Amino acid sequence: MPQCDYCESFECESRDDQEYLEHLAHEHMDELSRIDELKVENEWEGSIDSVVNPTGRFSPLMMGAMAAALVFVVGIAVVSAGSGVSDSDNAEMPDSEDNDWIYTQGTIEVTVDGEPVLLDERNTSEEFYVEDGSDIWRMNVPSEERLTVGESLVKLDILSSPAGQVSDDLVDDPSDAEIQITVNGESTDLDASLTDLDDLEVIVQTS
Ligand SMILES: [Zn+2]
Repeated sequence: MPQCDYCESFECESRDDQEYLEHLAHEHMDELSRIDELKVENEWEGSIDSVVNPTGRFSPLMMGAMAAALVFVVGIAVVSAGSGVSDSDNAEMPDSEDNDWIYTQGTIEVTVDGEPVLLDERNTSEEFYVEDGSDIWRMNVPSEERLTVGESLVKLDILSSPAGQVSDDLVDDPSDAEIQITVNGESTDLDASLTDLDDLEVIVQTS
C-alpha cells in the first residue's frame, strides 16, 4: 500500500483517493509540494481557506451541505421569479456535464542558462497564463481548443511559434538557443496536449 509522502504513518489505497487528500490537507498543509497542494485544492475546487473551518479541520461534508443549500436557495429564487429558466441553464459549476470549458492548472519553470525566468510578467493571454508571483500555470479555454505544450509556451512568449522556435524576447540570438522541454520529468512533443496538474519545465541554453 502506498504511504503518505510526509509522515509514513498513513496508508491508503491510492494516492489520489479522497482519504489521502484529506489527510494531506489536515496534517501537512504547510509542507505540501506544489503538485500535492494543487491536488488538494482541486479536490475542494479552489480555495483551501474557505473549507478549513476555524479549528483547522477539514469539513467537506459541510461544503456539500452549503452547496446544497445554495442550490436550494437559487432554485427557490428561480421558481419564485417564475422565469422558467431550467436548472441546467443556470449551472456554472466547473464539473458540470454541460461544461464545455477547460479550467486546468499545473506548475511551470523556465530557465535560461540556469537563471529562472519571471513568468507572471510574460502573460499575453487569459487562455494560458502564470498566476501572479507563483509558478502555477492556468489554462482557460473551450474544451475543443485545449492548448498544446507549444501553443501554451507561445502565450508566454517563450516560443515564437508552436513548432519550437525560441522567442527573440527571451534570448538575444534564438538561432543559437537550445531548448529542452519536459512534462512531469519526461521529454515531450510540442504538439502534446497539456493536461491537469502537469509539471512543465523548460530549459533554454544559449551558446
Ligand atoms: Zn502524513
